[in-house]
Amino acid sequence: MDEELEPLFDEDAIRNKMQELADRISRDYAGSDLVIVCVLKAAAFFAADLARSLAVPSRIAFVCASSYGASTSAVTEVEIRKDIEIDISGKHVLLVDTIADSGRTLAALTARYAQRGPASIRSAVLLDKRSRRTADLRLNYVGFEIPDLFVVGYGMDFAEKYRNLPYIAVLPSSDTEGEGNRPGT
Ligand code: 5GP
Ligand code: MG
Repeated sequence: MDEELEPLFDEDAIRNKMQELADRISRDYAGSDLVIVCVLKAAAFFAADLARSLAVPSRIAFVCASSYGASTSAVTEVEIRKDIEIDISGKHVLLVDTIADSGRTLAALTARYAQRGPASIRSAVLLDKRSRRTADLRLNYVGFEIPDLFVVGYGMDFAEKYRNLPYIAVLPSSDTEGEGNRPGT
């Protein structure tokens, strides 16, 4: 059992915001169907909840991606460890991640999938650390904007821990001392 952390967003706050985003997405995509591309691993929980809350039909695909290189670099390179299997040509694609930081992961994935001829491509995140953005990325759906804090829970990890927390918490900085805290998935 992981230790208890002080929630930044509890289960109710997450659920309410998630439903608000799902309602907006459902309105925007009314009459069309959607391919949700879940950016593993962090978005596994959020994308699953979102997909179940949408009023429009959706398919779900998974990409395992992480950005690398200096986080201050504007160059958007991501390592793809597993790509989607669904053919997205002519489809409406919604990239879903739990958090945007530099924005490089979503910017690179947008560029990658734009080459496959989708009808449209947008992105949705629950949390946005906008002050850290280095990539040229326009997010279409944002739940909460947060300051530059390292958060865990609801899919987000520190060294693979805490993903299973049902709430989102700020990791005490004493826990990250001496270890890299910008893992990519
Ligand atoms: P970006 O490419 O926007 O810099 O990074 C996005 C990825 O970095 C997210 O999918 C997530 O895996 C990871 N990340 C960014 N900020 C945080 C954070 O505060 N906590 C955790 N656990 N992961 C983060
Ligand atoms: Mg991670």
